[in-house]
Order: sequence, then structure tokens, then C-alpha cells
Amino acid sequence: MQPIRTYGDPVLKTNATDVTEIDGKIAKLVSDMIETMREAPGVGLAAPQVGVEKRIFVYDIGEGPRTVLNPKLTEFDGEWVYEEGCLSVPGLYWDIVRPNKVHLEGIDMDGNPLSIEGSELLGRVLQHEVDHLDGILLLERLDESQRKQAKKALRKRALKLD
Ligand code: ZN
Repeated sequence: MQPIRTYGDPVLKTNATDVTEIDGKIAKLVSDMIETMREAPGVGLAAPQVGVEKRIFVYDIGEGPRTVLNPKLTEFDGEWVYEEGCLSVPGLYWDIVRPNKVHLEGIDMDGNPLSIEGSELLGRVLQHEVDHLDGILLLERLDESQRKQAKKALRKRALKLD
């Protein structure tokens, strides 16, 4: 179990780098990430959320945990509104429009190529997690009025925490 980095932590804004060798360190990181996602609980977790700038994410939409290394979204189709949240911006949710269906390519923990078609929840999770690897938080996917409300909510929360 690893602490989850939250909004304001600079690691969430960095561009993660590709995994070049799937060694014991990566295996340990991935099993830690799966445990952390399960405990949170969440449907996805990207390595920067536990402070590691590597292109790795895990997800579980109810079919068991899956791991993706070096993902790339190659196709987008349609549009879907979903109330989206993020473990790094806990307790806040917004209706966000994104493409409904995506195609993702990457590699699995054995170094084999992965090709995943995802729509609705799976499509959403794949897009959300790849965003994390590009240093993008869901706040950047909000429209202008949502963003204003989000900033207010986050300010209020910061005051309470300090
Ligand atoms: Zn997130």
C-alpha cells in the first residue's frame, strides 16, 4: 500500500517515461499499485499517483486487476458523458464529456503487445489513466464553469486542511 499523491503534488504534472526493462522493481511497484487501488478503492491507478514517473497503470472494472505498460491511445470514437472522479482529487466528481470508445496499445508485464478496445467505463478509465501519464489531471478536462467551481472547492479544502 502506497500513499496516493493528491492535487498540488508536482509529480502529477510530469510526463512519465516509458518502461524499458520489466524487472523485479517494476513487478513490486505494480503489485503495490494494485493493492493501493483496491484499498482506495478505485477503478484505476497510474504510477505518478504513487510518485513514480513511469508509463504504467493498473485498472479493475470488476473483472480483476489488469496492468498496462507504455500505453498509447490510437483511436477515438463517439462521445460519452460520465461522472468522473480521481483518487488524486478525492471526493469531487464532475460530468465530463470524452470520446466513448478508444483503442489502446501497450505491453503487458511479460513484455507482450496489448491491444484493448474500451467503451463506456473501460474507455473512460483508459483515457483517464493515460492522461495521468501525460501529467494531465481531470481538472483540465472540465469546462469553464465547472473549473471555477472546482477551484473554489479546492481552495475551501486547502483552508480546512491548513
Ligand atoms: Zn485519476
